[in-house]
Amino acid sequence: MRVLLHSCCAPCSTFPSYILLAEGFRVDGLFFNPNIYPAEEEEKRWETYRRWAGEAGIEVRRIQWPHERWLSGVSSDLTKPGRCRECYRLRLIEVARLAREGGYDFFTTTLLVSPYQDHGGVVLALKKASEESGVPYLYRDFRVGYRRSREMARGSHLYMQKYCGCEFSLGGEA
Ligand code: SF4
Repeated sequence: MRVLLHSCCAPCSTFPSYILLAEGFRVDGLFFNPNIYPAEEEEKRWETYRRWAGEAGIEVRRIQWPHERWLSGVSSDLTKPGRCRECYRLRLIEVARLAREGGYDFFTTTLLVSPYQDHGGVVLALKKASEESGVPYLYRDFRVGYRRSREMARGSHLYMQKYCGCEFSLGGEA
């Protein structure tokens, strides 16, 4: 069975990939994060992810949108949790669409590993994207492995960013 794993960054990809591979899935990674600001930061996270995936033997691809396109997508509600839920929705709809295009059996996201994300909001976005695309989503509560994911990231000397991604989270707010 093939799963398209949306990856927000390398550190968050470690534990979910490990679990899904251990469960016997063929895992392909997709880096699609137009929420990340500024562009240099998006590049840095992609480069870290690409290097880690190469070492882990996982095939990955990157999809890019101009950050302004993401911004106009979330601008109807810039407060939390509205902004974050829209951010999840925008990304996961595209991931599900690409999963359908690529003939994947499932799609899911590494956003499920972080206790700092709105877990219920991520699940809701997965459900909606699945309904729209017709591709089933995989749910695992990867938060049980959050600490492990940090250890794995440190062990692989991965760059670990200090903020979620967008300009609104730059001050440390998730
Ligand atoms: S804080 Fe994170 S999840 Fe929320 S809108 Fe910004 S990048 Fe997206």
